[in-house]
Amino acid sequence: MRVVFLGPPGAGKGTQARILHERFGLEQISTGDLLRRNCVEQTELGRQAEGYMARGELVPDGLVIAMIERELRRLPTGFVMDGFPRNVVQAEALDALLARRGWPLDAAILFTADRPTLIARLASRWTNPRNGRTYNVLTNPPKVAGIDDDDAGELVQRDDDRAETVATRLDVYDAQTRPLIEYYRKTGKLVDVNALASVEAVAERIAAAIGTTHVPGARW
Ligand code: AMP
Repeated sequence: MRVVFLGPPGAGKGTQARILHERFGLEQISTGDLLRRNCVEQTELGRQAEGYMARGELVPDGLVIAMIERELRRLPTGFVMDGFPRNVVQAEALDALLARRGWPLDAAILFTADRPTLIARLASRWTNPRNGRTYNVLTNPPKVAGIDDDDAGELVQRDDDRAETVATRLDVYDAQTRPLIEYYRKTGKLVDVNALASVEAVAERIAAAIGTTHVPGARW
């Protein structure tokens, strides 16, 4: 099963990718998490990427595509990609990389939500910088304020979740990522999901769309 998640920042892609991982064991690839890790570790890639990320712009395609190529080498055949592709150049590169392996995509899931809701969600989002897990302090708070339920470590607000940077990220989505909707619609693999529904309802919709069934006792 190979799935890509499309949708603006704050739509819940990371949360749902984590659920797919927990329920069905699909490997989760988040380009945002990978890039942030590179920034923390001050790798060459991290140093090249951090300015773009701080401004809310896309990191140059060549850097991100090379990173995905490295990830695909270590991945099993099933995965969910969250945050890649972000434009048509990246989508074409992914198609070429998967074609070379004989691994067609099964679905592109499009998360839809209105801009005011996304801005509000990002403003109340707290993140575990160690694994990318997020909370919403209003609708899905951690058990103890500022502390992750799982690893008991500190939660932070991402710098690029500040209002000025959020506006840029949403504009970048509209200008560069939105054209992918048409790209994937033409393949017949695009599935629209209303991202304003509850976490559980969105998860059910995605599971139904990709032809999987509920696993009793799953942790969500
Ligand atoms: P995210 O965590 O998906 O919101 O990504 C955070 C930031 O990482 C974005 O604002 C971009 O600067 C960068 N980024 C993540 N994925 C990509 C990508 N596929 N292409 C270019 N930049 C990306």
